[in-house]
Amino acid sequence: MFAGLTQMNGRTLPPERVRSRMLSLATVVLVFVLVVTAIGGFIHVSTQQRAVTDIRAQGQQLRATYQALTEADADALRYLAGEGGALSRHLSQVALLGGEAQIFDALAPISLPSGTTPAKALVKALITNWTDAIALASAGDREAGQALIANRHTGATLAAIGTEVQRVLRDTDARLAMHDERIQIGTLLVLLLQLGAGLLAILGLIYAFRLSVSEADGRAAAVESADRSREQVARLFEMADVLQSASDHSDANAVLSATAIDLVPGFSGALYVFNNSRDRLVLSTTWARAANDALPETINPGGCWALKRGKPHLNRGDGTKLCCAHHVGTEASLEIPMIARGEIVGLLQLFASGISAVERLERATDLGSALADGMSLALANMALREKLRNQALRDPLTGLYNRRYMEDCLQRFVRLAEREAREISLVMVDLDHFKRLNDEHGHAFGDQVLRDAALALTGSLRETDIVCRFGGEELVVILPDCPLERAADKAEVLRLRIEELGNTLGTDISASFGVASLPHTSQSVADLLAAADSALYKAKQAGRNQVAKAPLRPFRIDRVVDEASHLEEFPRAAAE
Ligand code: GH3
Ligand code: MG
Ligand code: MG
Repeated sequence: MFAGLTQMNGRTLPPERVRSRMLSLATVVLVFVLVVTAIGGFIHVSTQQRAVTDIRAQGQQLRATYQALTEADADALRYLAGEGGALSRHLSQVALLGGEAQIFDALAPISLPSGTTPAKALVKALITNWTDAIALASAGDREAGQALIANRHTGATLAAIGTEVQRVLRDTDARLAMHDERIQIGTLLVLLLQLGAGLLAILGLIYAFRLSVSEADGRAAAVESADRSREQVARLFEMADVLQSASDHSDANAVLSATAIDLVPGFSGALYVFNNSRDRLVLSTTWARAANDALPETINPGGCWALKRGKPHLNRGDGTKLCCAHHVGTEASLEIPMIARGEIVGLLQLFASGISAVERLERATDLGSALADGMSLALANMALREKLRNQALRDPLTGLYNRRYMEDCLQRFVRLAEREAREISLVMVDLDHFKRLNDEHGHAFGDQVLRDAALALTGSLRETDIVCRFGGEELVVILPDCPLERAADKAEVLRLRIEELGNTLGTDISASFGVASLPHTSQSVADLLAAADSALYKAKQAGRNQVAKAPLRPFRIDRVVDEASHLEEFPRAAAE
């Protein structure tokens, strides 16, 4: 039965359900006990009372019969003594006794001690004596009647019956007292049982009330926690949804910060993402942190237990137990690796301080992990998008923009320059004798030279300048807002940088440069490219490792002004 209380369909019930079931069972048992004791008590008391009534009735009957016998005897003696009226009283007493059978019934409880004449015989003898004596007296011989009474010991017989009656009556009183006692004990027992059961019922009710209150509290807490979980899941879905439309890291960081503050309140946090070479994690964003509470800008993945183990790790504020190398300050931190498509993309950190910081962080682990999961997919998607965009725009060998991007970019710049009457220059670069370089040092060396040349160019230019790989060993530099002469000067600087590469690579390296610009030498994109190419050809023809400018277009007054102004700027440009 107990197994039935603790199990349901083979499942173990929770302790509060078991308690509730046991309480129901105890209530049923209590009610049963109450009903049984009430019925039992009623039956017991009524049986005892019936017995008392019977005993009393017997006693009264016995007493009345004996009384009637005594009075009948007295009247018979009075009649024999000459009192004529006593006969009728005697006869009416005998009539009242109702004949022998009735008297025997009334005297039934009397049991004379063995060896003496039974009560029945005594009564019979008594009545016979009276009848005989009265007959003698009625016949006129009262002395004979009196002698008969005396001879037959009628008085002694009556006295013997009287003694027995007294004994039976005493016995009756004792029996009555015994039944009374039984009634009292029974009533007391029933009362006690009922009181006990009632008390137990009250205790059960109190317990049931408290149980139901605690169950109701538990249910309310469960409902509240389910509501909270639902809200959290909804918030996470909302975050994932908004992250879909995040175009870059700053968008994603803003979404993460807002969600984290909402979802795991009371904790500050930070997000680190891997850099391109994946050798360090770079701080991407923080939230709910004081300005003076700075975190390291980068983290070495080798010193992070969360990244090494691939699961959340807790650093205690006092630095005890296993603690990451980058952990600083006295705050406890929960570190959650962000994994997407089997690859770690970053690290989410939650910080807390105070006495229960570690416990609070432990409780926040699931939610923090859900947050990290939602964010990591967005980070991976962003990295993928970035990679695809790079693949579409960049040359894989040098990392420079490709020819298609260069053409788009040039179109845009040229349109802008025309609309706003600004200048734009283009420098076409071709590495000298590259075929020979490949032949002499191998293709891999040629690749390295190309990469180094690309780096030398980008490192010598402004961020707004665009360097592209035009094809093979030919590169193109677009210089917005740069007139022809200054572009030629810049080309000269670039030429020197490429020449310097020879020192580190251990062989002669040089490039030839053709410079053209809008509107000084050309009027359109096609013109500009063709003019730069022609100038480059001219540089090659003139002996390579030099800069050649495209010829100026026919005279225009605005151009003369431009050139004059440029003469003043020349020293500064050369210095750059
Ligand atoms: P010039 O001074 O007249 O420009 O002579 P050149 O040898 O540089 O010119 P040419 O056009 O004859 O040869 C270009 C060479 O550049 C041929 C090709 O093997 C090499 N080249 C083109 N692209 C690459 C590349 O991606 N890697 C390497 N290693 N070599 C390349
Ligand atoms: Mg070439
Ligand atoms: Mg070449």
